[in-house]
Amino acid sequence: MSKVITSFEDFKINRQILNAIDDLGHKKPTDIQKKSIPIALNGQDILGIAQTGTGKTAAFVIPLIMKLKYAQGELPRALILSPTRELATQTADNFRKLSAYTDLRVVELYGGVGPKTQIENLEKGSDVIVATPGRFMDVYLAEKLVTKLVQTLVIDEADKMMDMGFMPQIRRILEVIPVKKRQNLLFSATIPEKVIELSHEFLEFPVKIEISPSATAAETVEQRLYSVPNLRSKISLLNHLLLNSDDLKRVIVFTRTKKNADNVFKYLDRKLEDEVRVIHGNKAQNTRLNSIDAFKQGEVRILVATDVVARGIDVSDVSHVINFDVPIIYEDYVHRIGRTGRAFNKGIAITFMAKSEEYHIEKIEKLIQSKIPLLSVPEEIEMYKTEKWEHIEMAREIDRQKRWENPDFKGAFHEKKDRKSKGDKKRNPKKRR
Ligand code: AMP
Repeated sequence: MSKVITSFEDFKINRQILNAIDDLGHKKPTDIQKKSIPIALNGQDILGIAQTGTGKTAAFVIPLIMKLKYAQGELPRALILSPTRELATQTADNFRKLSAYTDLRVVELYGGVGPKTQIENLEKGSDVIVATPGRFMDVYLAEKLVTKLVQTLVIDEADKMMDMGFMPQIRRILEVIPVKKRQNLLFSATIPEKVIELSHEFLEFPVKIEISPSATAAETVEQRLYSVPNLRSKISLLNHLLLNSDDLKRVIVFTRTKKNADNVFKYLDRKLEDEVRVIHGNKAQNTRLNSIDAFKQGEVRILVATDVVARGIDVSDVSHVINFDVPIIYEDYVHRIGRTGRAFNKGIAITFMAKSEEYHIEKIEKLIQSKIPLLSVPEEIEMYKTEKWEHIEMAREIDRQKRWENPDFKGAFHEKKDRKSKGDKKRNPKKRR
């Protein structure tokens, strides 16, 4: 029978790693670490379902350090694939910290910057590579990378890789690294069909380890919901929260679109100069990294972000996540609120919900299997009348949702227009609760 793990000392790992864990201040292993580390140390393949924030990086890095032991030769023996440059640098940093008492060498390969320095780093010798798939293949095809000794492959955030269309590159990578005796670990926050397909392609008799995201979120994150009529009122509430509470020390404001991210940023920047940065997919890599860095270092208090770039970013001590918009990819709600309350810390997630977003909240509540407590907006906060264009936009959106649920639904918006033309101006607002 396997031993019950309660502390890092219970793993078969060496003193160098224990000391590094100690330096990082981690007191006890997280669930994913308890479950994955013994299996990975055993040499088995893993299909790990866990989001960032659960401590999954250390769950694969610690056994990898044990396996690689110390620097050997020039050629890499392990490959970690990450979907984004941000995650790659973060994972490499994590590896460096956990292997601080060894001489292991980690090299990062990612796009958005020239390959020269990265290739020079490779030439100096490496034990592990942390790479995004595209840049990895570019360097390989330029014959600057010899993969014949790679015996461990980690694919991190596989769902994001699939979303970003990396499947063809991953298939090519699988063709250029040795098959024999290779250990494979795949981590993903969710397991859509494509990830299952990928896991069949390259995992051998994997042990499936699942950390329920809903449980993780519910345990450490206090969730709050405000019903807010429109965009302008959302801004007003956001402004109030950010100006009036000292508790909001490190805040990520999530928006659904780049346009909203820019608008919220512009507004906040006027009010809270030097306290806010923005990141989204249209920003250059360097700007994105600078913004994240400034936020990580505590130079700015507020980061406005869209989902795509924010997934996987590890910033510790985020006190609050504010969902300015409700995400329509429901797993993103779990990802977003997982930015706070990380690894044993408490956090608060506040969601602003317009009428047209009630539908999505209901779906999210189904996913997380709990109701998000609805609070009343404090009276002193000014709520604005919904302007006509926004009212129409929301009515259209609600129609779309109803049609999605019931393809025969004709559309209240159009009906209303018809009725209106007959002189009937009555509306039928449905109360949520
Ligand atoms: P990850 O899910 O790998 O992105 O990790 C999220 C955060 O949790 C990182 O800041 C880690 O340094 C931290 N972390 C990882 N393992 C532990 C642990 N056992 N105890 C406390 N914090 C941890």
